[in-house]
Parts: sequence; C-alpha cells; structure tokens
Amino acid sequence: MRRVTVDGDSRIPNEIKGFYHCKKCIEEATKIAARAGSASPRHYAKLEFGVTKSGFQLFCVRHEINVMKIEISLEESPNES
Ligand SMILES: [Zn+2]
Repeated sequence: MRRVTVDGDSRIPNEIKGFYHCKKCIEEATKIAARAGSASPRHYAKLEFGVTKSGFQLFCVRHEINVMKIEISLEESPNES
C-alpha cells in the first residue's frame, strides 16, 4: 500500500467505482422497495469500516455479519518502493 489518506478533506472527491453491500441488507431493501416503491441500499445499509489487527474490515451492524475483510501484509514487496 503506497498511500493512505485519513482525514475529512472535502476536496477529495468520491472515487468509488463499485460498492460492497451486505447480501441480507440488499435482500431486505429489495423487498421493501417492492412494497413501498423505493429503498436504496445506500440508505438502508448500516455498515462499519475499520482497522483490524491485520488489515481492514467492512461489517454489517444490522445483521452482525462480515461483508468484507482485507488482509494486508506489512512487508513491502521488492517491486514497491
Ligand atoms: Zn446487513
């Protein structure tokens, strides 16, 4: 990992190209949308993203399940410098 930015700098735009969602939240939001006409995963989700001992984790608070876990090696590969 070469660069990490952790701050509230609003000048950095949202560069997300795809989203990770909790499968159960998507299923529930889809059912709500069918009944009520709309329910976006963005507004329905209750996710936490944070640091673990070995990387990062995205966790669904609503369902208490792992969505994604990223393990990061602290050793740099020979090609990184
Ligand atoms: Zn969920």
